[in-house]
Amino acid sequence: MTIKQFGPTKLDAALIPVIARQWGTPIYLHDQEYIENSCEQLLNMPNAFGLHVRYAMKANSDRTVLRVVTGKGLDLDCSSLDEAARAHAAGIPFSRMMLTTQEVPGGDERAELEAMIKAGLKYNVCSMLQFNLIADFAKANRIDLSMRVHPGAAGGGESATRDTGSEYSCFGVHLNDVPKVKAMADEKGLRFTQVHVHIGSGGDPEKWRQNIDRELGFVKTYFPDATTVSFGGGLKVARMPGEKQADIASLGAYAKQRIEEFKAETGRELQMEIEPGTFVVANSGHIITRIIDKKLTNELNFLIVDGGMELLTRPLLYGSEHPVSIVRQDGTLLSSEYDQAPAQGLKSFGIVGRCCESGDSVRLDNDGNIVPVLIAEPEIGDYVVIGGTGAYSESMSPENYNSHRKPGAVMKTKSGELVQIRKKQVREQLTQNELDVTL
Ligand SMILES: *Cc1c(COP(=O)(O)O)cnc(C)c1O
Repeated sequence: MTIKQFGPTKLDAALIPVIARQWGTPIYLHDQEYIENSCEQLLNMPNAFGLHVRYAMKANSDRTVLRVVTGKGLDLDCSSLDEAARAHAAGIPFSRMMLTTQEVPGGDERAELEAMIKAGLKYNVCSMLQFNLIADFAKANRIDLSMRVHPGAAGGGESATRDTGSEYSCFGVHLNDVPKVKAMADEKGLRFTQVHVHIGSGGDPEKWRQNIDRELGFVKTYFPDATTVSFGGGLKVARMPGEKQADIASLGAYAKQRIEEFKAETGRELQMEIEPGTFVVANSGHIITRIIDKKLTNELNFLIVDGGMELLTRPLLYGSEHPVSIVRQDGTLLSSEYDQAPAQGLKSFGIVGRCCESGDSVRLDNDGNIVPVLIAEPEIGDYVVIGGTGAYSESMSPENYNSHRKPGAVMKTKSGELVQIRKKQVREQLTQNELDVTL
């Protein structure tokens, strides 16, 4: 029996106890075929004069995931120097990376950054200060730059909408400052060959279209040297039943049309770039937890499972919903939330983890209260499988809280093999950086 989710997934419930017995629970599971499929969809996005796809590696920075993604031809967007170093350690050349970060590293790391840029890493200037800190080096080495623009006040004096304002409130060179930074660059003879906006809109196609219009507007006004225009990430995936996945074909068709119109107006052929994280990996991942206790109370029935917020913090952080499946110890699928099966005989359970934290649950409302999930009643020892956890789970969780050890991860390969890609932490790793001092 298959655990269903959006798209052509093939996670056989019978694999769950196999994985659990071999490597223990909790554990992260990934699916190579899914990742490769999403890479292919992105690479096939309609475009006018070429498309470059970067994977925003903060979504999942595991080396095996990076190798699968870059093996399909995607390059990387790194959000810190350490991410770039980490990707390089996985065997990926700096020439395939862009760095979009909040800080220009200083000290020893400054030398590292310069070596990376000389080796081909693209630097995405994200503030006026960043420009000032990087300009002389770039000039001395004749390096072209990218600029991340904060589009907030664009469009006839309009401010960013309240809803999404917070999503991009501090990122990038504010559009008001662009002429100033551009003038400083001109003075030094530096070129911005790429312009970048990432609004993280969460997939509203109207916002995607508005962003493209706005961005092409200021590329025309301020960036005569730009040959690449990046529309960022934020392509939505459907995790829960009823959610709508970003329609890559129609988003691409709009971008293509506008870039072609840009050419008709200006004679310039812009390459399009996108840098999704979520879209590449979100639905490639499942978390397998085991039910370790069950409490039936008058108000709410609880299942306690052996992994929660320290594996997946999105429900607590954002109120995000992830589909829950219940699998028996013999591999039978008892219930599956994505396809709402079975339709009857389900019971409400609050599903909580092992942390001493009342918000340690897979389902929370906006006030942080636990929301019960409708499932078939399981036994202690059965499995709770959480879907849509390939992005922003193992890369962002408050791991080691309550001194739980970060679990390992398994990749289901294209041929259906199960391969461990990361070991569970050993206990020594919890304390290895602590010093025995006498006070
Ligand atoms: C996080 C991030 C992305 C990816 O966002 P998704 O919503 O995961 O697609 C892209 N670009 C930048 C600069 C980011 O910080």
